[in-house]
Amino acid sequence: MMQPKAVLLDIEGTTTPKDFVYRKLFPFAKEHLNEFLDAHSEDVEVQKCLSKIIGNYSQVSPHDKNTGRKEITDLIVSLIDSDSKFTAFKELEAMIWNSGYASGELKGEVYPDVPPAIKRWHDSGIVVSIYSSGSVPAQKAIFSTTQYGDLTRYIFSYFDTNVGPKNEPDSYERISGLIGVDPSRIVFVSDSVIELQAADASGFMTYLSVRPGMENPPNGKYRVIRNFSELRF
Ligand SMILES: [Mg+2]
Repeated sequence: MMQPKAVLLDIEGTTTPKDFVYRKLFPFAKEHLNEFLDAHSEDVEVQKCLSKIIGNYSQVSPHDKNTGRKEITDLIVSLIDSDSKFTAFKELEAMIWNSGYASGELKGEVYPDVPPAIKRWHDSGIVVSIYSSGSVPAQKAIFSTTQYGDLTRYIFSYFDTNVGPKNEPDSYERISGLIGVDPSRIVFVSDSVIELQAADASGFMTYLSVRPGMENPPNGKYRVIRNFSELRF
């Protein structure tokens, strides 16, 4: 194997427990919804999102003064529960999470083996980047607020689906161009075989992340790692 010059990491199921979003982020948004809406009743961006959400999902006119708070919060809670991808809803949800990250009530989560590995790679001149379907600001929020402190100083760049879907080889070629490292010198780690296939098709070196809760890794040609300490270059 050639000496890698860059490491590209998936988040959910790789650096971070897969259920982080269900266990932490969704409940946080629900618990703080009322308080957030109270605090932002004059905030134009928040009100725009609310109008779009109500306009799209409710029979009630967004301009109807009788649209009660409970009706609005019930609607938003149902969208959180169904993991809706409606853009205005995702924007509102991100604003609620950001308020939590900013106040310190919400913290990012990574496995304990992640910070020492990222630091070791960084210190030996290997470029560390992140590629996740969560938005870049949401990725940065996770890594800047982990239980082990701010890890963003070790991370060179972040990619979300603006660079392309994670299951398409073209996306990995683009990332290789953007970080300026040949695909054959980039290691990609993910818990998704489809993502590894796409990266592999672009010439990346690939490792399948198998974390607790995924006890039966799909058998295949991908090298399995259960802990980042196994990735020694
Ligand atoms: Mg994943």
